[in-house]
Formats: sequence, structure tokens, C-alpha cells
Amino acid sequence: MARSLKVAVVGAGASGLVTARELQREGQQVVVYEKSNQIGGTWVYSPQVESDPLSLDPKREIVHSSLYYSLETNLPRRLMGFSDYPFTIRKNGELRTFPGHQEVLQFLNNFVQDFGLLDFIRFNTEVVRVEQQNDQWVVESRRSTCDELSSSEEIFEAVVVCNGHYTIPKVADLPGIKSWPGKQIHSHNYRVPEPFRDQVVIVIGAGPSAMDIGQEITKVAKEVHLCSRSPEIKVSKLEMFNNLWQHSKIEYCYENGLVAFQDGTSVAADIILHCTGYKYDFYFLRTNGTVTIDDNRVGPLYKHVFPPELAPGLSFVGLPYRAVIFFMIEVQAKWVASVLSGKVILPPKEEMLHDVEQHYRLMEENRIPKHHTHRLPLDPFEYLNWVAAQVGFPVDTELLEIYHKFFEFISGASWIKFREQDVESWNN
Ligand code: FAD
Repeated sequence: MARSLKVAVVGAGASGLVTARELQREGQQVVVYEKSNQIGGTWVYSPQVESDPLSLDPKREIVHSSLYYSLETNLPRRLMGFSDYPFTIRKNGELRTFPGHQEVLQFLNNFVQDFGLLDFIRFNTEVVRVEQQNDQWVVESRRSTCDELSSSEEIFEAVVVCNGHYTIPKVADLPGIKSWPGKQIHSHNYRVPEPFRDQVVIVIGAGPSAMDIGQEITKVAKEVHLCSRSPEIKVSKLEMFNNLWQHSKIEYCYENGLVAFQDGTSVAADIILHCTGYKYDFYFLRTNGTVTIDDNRVGPLYKHVFPPELAPGLSFVGLPYRAVIFFMIEVQAKWVASVLSGKVILPPKEEMLHDVEQHYRLMEENRIPKHHTHRLPLDPFEYLNWVAAQVGFPVDTELLEIYHKFFEFISGASWIKFREQDVESWNN
């Protein structure tokens, strides 16, 4: 017979919500802790930004979401649903292949409602400590209501960590930056283009945020210079714009405001905008060094989910990136729920540790830097299929086809052209 355990879930973003649903389906008693007053995590847009534009001040008030106002998804909606709850129904005449963030939040709210998840969620309740005590887990939380703050401790048989990893900025350490006189900001604190009006801006990064924001600020900025460490980049002006250039890596930032690139050019810049990604952070987790974060490697974690020494009582959902995220968190959640109910058995600890070591060794052999430990390979389905197979869950071949078609398309098109498309065949 399946085991019924008392399980805590940290966070009510997409990962926490789908985890709560899967745990509940497996008959577990679920409590979801959510520090804010609503579900959705990343997908809750806030015009508020942090007091320190680089988010380095430890005393700053942290804003969770990094969404900018104009953000549209970077995956077609067909790749952003759950297996039995598609994101294809277009309400209110919405026709975009890449919907706006408001629609994703609405989708998650509908999901919560349709699966009756609201009852399990404790809002305004921040988890401040998760610690193993004998074979159980203590979860210490702080609840804030109006002007009152109360603390409590509760014992669980398992904890699933779903706190997200797009909140604490990674900032590039640039040579000479300490005496460079301009302003700096991280994309976590970017919302709208207006503050960049008439400015010469350098945008560091090559991911979706750098491309989206770089393009958006061309509408108001005097000049925008995209730069990244990608070896393929050659200095050039981008055809469709009269004020957008791309460059290689920054070589040096000078006291007189000039910023030199490795391609031999330099610009007198007003602002450097870091679109350089985020750091994993589990400030509430006390494991006596069993789970560590080293250069953005959270480990050791078996298949990015279970720490071998503490499994199955502790698990993580949502860590890998460059994936079909919603599908990934769904299969990870199914795996965690099935392991907790005893339907699926994990391999022995030594075998899991050996698997992690093998992953690290392969990364080294292929010269993949440590900070990419949780980046899935170009074809994420190798991993997704593996996780799905643990619970005997069939991967929809249509999903695979759409992903491959989409991936082929974006590999062949520039980001800008890809954004302009509305490829009907991905939607139907
Ligand atoms: P989050 O959404 O971050 O949710 C974590 C939740 O945990 C939050 O509600 C937070 O308040 C809560 N929490 C954190 N700490 C605590 C604590 N101590 N106690 C209690 N609660 C806590 N994905 C896509 O699939 N498609 C896209 O187009 C896409 N675009 C993106 C664009 C941007 C700019 C960013 C930053 C991310 C994007 N993503 C996209 C990734 C996106 O983050 C995931 O889709 C998904 O939202 C991750 O969900 P999550 O639940 O893991 O984390």
C-alpha cells in the first residue's frame, strides 16, 4: 500500500504548484509555504525594483520576480502547459504564440483553481529554516499579517524545495569597473525602457533577457551595444536597427567612462546593464554541508533532484534550465511524489553518488564549466525522458516534435526575427 506522509513544499510558483498536485494525487498530506500573498512566483510582475540596482546590498528588500513589463514567453505556448492541462486555450481573443506574462499567471491561477490547490497553501509565510531532526524535518516559518509577525515550527516527513532561482543576480566582475564612473544595473531590476532614454548602454549577456531588453531599449536609447563572451561574436551593427551593435567580451572599463571590448573597439558608455543570470540560493536550508552550492553547482544531487545522503526526505524541483520547464517540473514532481509514496524506489546511496560523480567527470571531460552543472544539454529530452521513465509516464511525441521544430527554427533565425514570427503550426 502507498505511504501517506506529511510533506512540506517551499514555494507556490509553477514548481511548487505542480508538486503539490502530484503529492496530493499520491495521497500525501501537503502544506505549501509561500512567502508572498499570491501564487505564481516568477510570473507575478511587480513594478517595484530593489534599492540597489545591482542587488549587492545585503540589507536591501528583495523583490522575487525578475519580469520586465513587456515580457513575452520565450517558448511557444504549446510548450508551456502541463501534460493534462494544456496552455493552448486562448481566452479573451489572445492570439500570440508567445503570450505575455499576465496570461501565464492567469494560466497558473486557473490550474490552482481547477485542482483545488488553494486549501494547501499558506500565504505570507516564509520558510526560514529547514533542518533534519532524526528521520524527520523541522520547518521553521515566519508569517506576516498586517503588522503582526509570528514564528512557528512544524515537523514533516519530507520537504520539497521549490523556491525558484531567478532572484539573486550574478554580476560580471569587469576589469577596471571600480573606478568606471557610469551606472550599473542588473536585469533583475529592469522593468521598462524609459530610464535609458538618450543613454549609451552596454548590455552584457547572450540569453533571452539580453536579447529582449537590448532590443527594447533601442527605442529610447542613443546607442545600445550588446556584448557577450561567445567566441563567435564579431563586432557589427545590426541590420534592422540604426543604434544597435554587437561586440565581443569587455576588455576594460576606464576611469574616463570608456569601455573597451576585446574586438578592439571602445565606447563612451553611460550605463552597463548586466543580463548575466542568477544564483541558486537556499538560505533556509541547514544540512551541515551535505548539500552545498559551489559556483552555482548545487550538490551532490542525483539527477538534479535528490541529495543522495538525505533522500528521499529532501528533494528539489525546478533546478535545471534550458528545458521545456513546465514539462520538466511536472515529471520531476511525479517522480518525487512516487518515491515518497513508496511506488518507486531510488537506487542505493552509493549508486546515486556515483552517478553524480560521473556527471561531474563528463562535464570536465567536455570542458563544461562548473556553473553550468544544471544546464541541460541542447536536447533536454534525454533528461526529461529519463525522469518520465522513472514513473512510467509516456512522453507525448507531439511535444517532442514541437520542441525539435521550434529548436531548429530558433537555431536558424536571429532572436529578433524569431520574436516577429507567429508560427501557427505550434499552436494548434
Ligand atoms: P518561481 O516561479 O521563482 O517560484 C518560487 C516561489 O517560491 C515564489 O512564489 C517565492 O515567493 C517562493 N519562495 C521563495 N523562497 C521562499 C521561502 N523561503 N519561503 C516561502 N516561499 C518562498 N520559463 C518558461 O517556461 N518560459 C518562459 O518564457 C520563461 N521566461 C522567463 C523569463 C524570465 C525573465 C525569468 C526570470 C524566468 C523565465 N522562465 C521561463 C523560467 C521561470 O522561472 C519558470 O517558468 C518557472 O516560473 C519557475 O517556477 P518555480 O516555481 O521553480 O520558481
